[in-house]
Amino acid sequence: MLRLETIVAGYNKSIALDGVSIDIPAGTIVSVVGANGAGKSTIVNTISRLVSTYSGTIRFDGRDITGSKPAEVVELGIVQVPEGRQLFAPLTVEENLRLGFHRLAGKPDSAQKYRERLDYVLDLFPIMKQRIGQRAGTMSGGEQQMVAVSRALMAEPKLLMLDEPSLGLAPMIVDQIFDILAKLRKDGLTILLVEQHADEALALADYGYVMAVGKVRAEGPGNDLRDTPALHQSYLGKV
Ligand code: ATP
Repeated sequence: MLRLETIVAGYNKSIALDGVSIDIPAGTIVSVVGANGAGKSTIVNTISRLVSTYSGTIRFDGRDITGSKPAEVVELGIVQVPEGRQLFAPLTVEENLRLGFHRLAGKPDSAQKYRERLDYVLDLFPIMKQRIGQRAGTMSGGEQQMVAVSRALMAEPKLLMLDEPSLGLAPMIVDQIFDILAKLRKDGLTILLVEQHADEALALADYGYVMAVGKVRAEGPGNDLRDTPALHQSYLGKV
């Protein structure tokens, strides 16, 4: 569904991704793991077209989107749950969810579609039913992450990208979020998961990539990667 082909990208002429190729087949979870600064967020932001590429190609459903603008990428159904969640703290849960629906608002039957999407995310995260009128900024970190995932799902994405969803959350909450990702895959969604918590992210993934210093150091089926020397080396900085 999405393919990065030999991408070189970065910030102000510095290179953060150095020839990165990644393939995300439809209906799978692909995890990208690696230590701080390895380039994981840059991958997500390159796909969103928030980071400029110096060379290489990004293809979505076979179409070259390297020259697309961020809004066009969202319009195609590529939606991001950003690092740190980035909710609108003074707004209620429902107001945050409505912002996620922006992609579909104004289309025919949008009122019915809104109800359907809302029911879908409230079924996934029943706890939000009681919190729908609560200001997002007053919720726990785990609840905020659930709202952030839900906000992205309101857009009915084809490809959902999550940047470090486990950040600052208790292991039990991380398990809950990862269980939801497995359920979303069952529903047919394609997912790119970018995580420092390598073991859980690889256990969940169909396929994984280990990054270090802007390069892919290892790749393979998620479970096979959990014990590779490349994984340990990338976290120890021995690359
Ligand atoms: P983290 O878990 O810390 O987010 P990461 O693996 O996601 O790590 P990136 O954030 O993609 O790593 O960073 C890759 C490289 O790009 C690092 O060297 C980082 O310092 C640099 N970088 C990231 N964002 C910017 C920016 N806005 N301007 C300049 N350099 C940046």
